[in-house]
Amino acid sequence: MTNQETIFSKIISREIPADIVYEDDLALAFRDVNPQAPVHILVIPKQPIAKLADAEYGDRDLMGHLLLTVKLIAEQLGLSNGYRVVINNGNDGGQTVDHLHLHILGGRHMKWPPG
Ligand code: C5P
Repeated sequence: MTNQETIFSKIISREIPADIVYEDDLALAFRDVNPQAPVHILVIPKQPIAKLADAEYGDRDLMGHLLLTVKLIAEQLGLSNGYRVVINNGNDGGQTVDHLHLHILGGRHMKWPPG
């Protein structure tokens, strides 16, 4: 589903505060309020795509932009020793906010497999 108002659309519109670390025309990134690693950033499209499964072929430039934005932010935050990128998709994926978001997790060694 798209065009649904979520807590993330309210962060984009500045209706609710967030610790924003990056913004451009297409994307916004902010620190997760419940960090699971020393560095935990969420990168979201300003366009309200609810989840990865709702992205379409026409979104390919945006999707590429989001990944390269992850890379840029990781460089800016000094995650030179590596980091993890996670997209939780839908209920079984553990997604809790219906606005596509890419987690950047860094600053410690990540375990595998995730829970
Ligand atoms: O992938 P998932 O949907 O579970 O992730 C949502 C994330 O959004 C959580 O890590 C949660 O801590 C974060 N969040 C946030 N700020 C909010 C609401 C949720 O950083 N206001």
